[in-house]
Amino acid sequence: MKMCELCEEQAKKSRSGKPHQNLSKVDGPRLFKGHNKRSFEEQDYQCQICQARFTHSTNKNDHAWTLWRG
Ligand SMILES: [Zn+2]
Repeated sequence: MKMCELCEEQAKKSRSGKPHQNLSKVDGPRLFKGHNKRSFEEQDYQCQICQARFTHSTNKNDHAWTLWRG
């Protein structure tokens, strides 16, 4: 499936940034307790236009935005 333009832009955001206007949250945030008391959260989003799915992570060692291709 072809991604919409907003998702194309979203996938390029390596640093944190806001989800685009047509991304809706899927379920609630997941909290992870990492080593050295470094916890982080992940939140899934799905685009209402093209159905692309992203996961946003606050883990500094990971990409902020991960695109899940179908
Ligand atoms: Zn989209």
